[in-house]
Amino acid sequence: MVRGEKEKLNSTELYQINKCWDCHNALVDMDEAAKRLHEIFQEIDFSRRQLARLGGVKPKSHNIFQVAIAGCPNSCCQPQIKDFALQGQAVPEIGAGCTMCGLCVAACPDDCIVLGEAGPIIDRQVCLNCGKCAAKCPTGAIKINKRGYRVIRGGKLGRRPQLAQEVCSLTNVRGAAALLRETLDLLLQQGKPGERLGSLLQRLQKVENCEENLAGAKPLGVPTRGTSRRQP
Ligand code: SF4
Ligand code: SF4
Ligand code: SF4
Repeated sequence: MVRGEKEKLNSTELYQINKCWDCHNALVDMDEAAKRLHEIFQEIDFSRRQLARLGGVKPKSHNIFQVAIAGCPNSCCQPQIKDFALQGQAVPEIGAGCTMCGLCVAACPDDCIVLGEAGPIIDRQVCLNCGKCAAKCPTGAIKINKRGYRVIRGGKLGRRPQLAQEVCSLTNVRGAAALLRETLDLLLQQGKPGERLGSLLQRLQKVENCEENLAGAKPLGVPTRGTSRRQP
């Protein structure tokens, strides 16, 4: 079931912000984030500049910059395939007072809590910061002290699909807005006409890797007389 909500935007806008419907699982205030991200697009006059970047070609659906704001790691509005996306996070912190009841272990959808001798131990490599363990803990031995957004970017479908990559593991609305602005500046300044953000990031990464390789490469030797140049 689709549970996304498209913000009502003027049809001339070349961006779209999708966010979850009101949902009891939401860990953050998505309206506040959507409002601020919308302001960023307006402040930098994104749609007009994106149109100019297309060089007179009529915009197609993939030229609309897609943003998703998911209220929790369940990611119902598919942030992983959007150009820029936020995922609500609630980071569990372990304190004192554990009675070893095991409710947190049972509540974790990702099986990343075990009970040790002194209480719960969370595998942070696996934990998605959904906060479900803390919500079930009757003593407050697991609490949520930090909430915010994970920021990912560069996702897309199409001819060469790719998932968005993390640019920040946890930030607030202000931080997310700053990252959006930086991302849009990059796209508008360095993107080829019609190039998607994901393709641009991949291209820049290739150039960076290439430059690193060249910087670390030894000078090529001059072949001596009689040395075979044939490749094996
Ligand atoms: S991503 Fe989370 S908050 Fe959003 S609709 Fe899905 S379950 Fe609800
Ligand atoms: S925050 Fe979610 S994923 Fe992480 S340990 Fe708690 S229940 Fe498991
Ligand atoms: S739910 Fe709370 S009290 Fe129960 S085992 Fe987990 S941390 Fe301990």
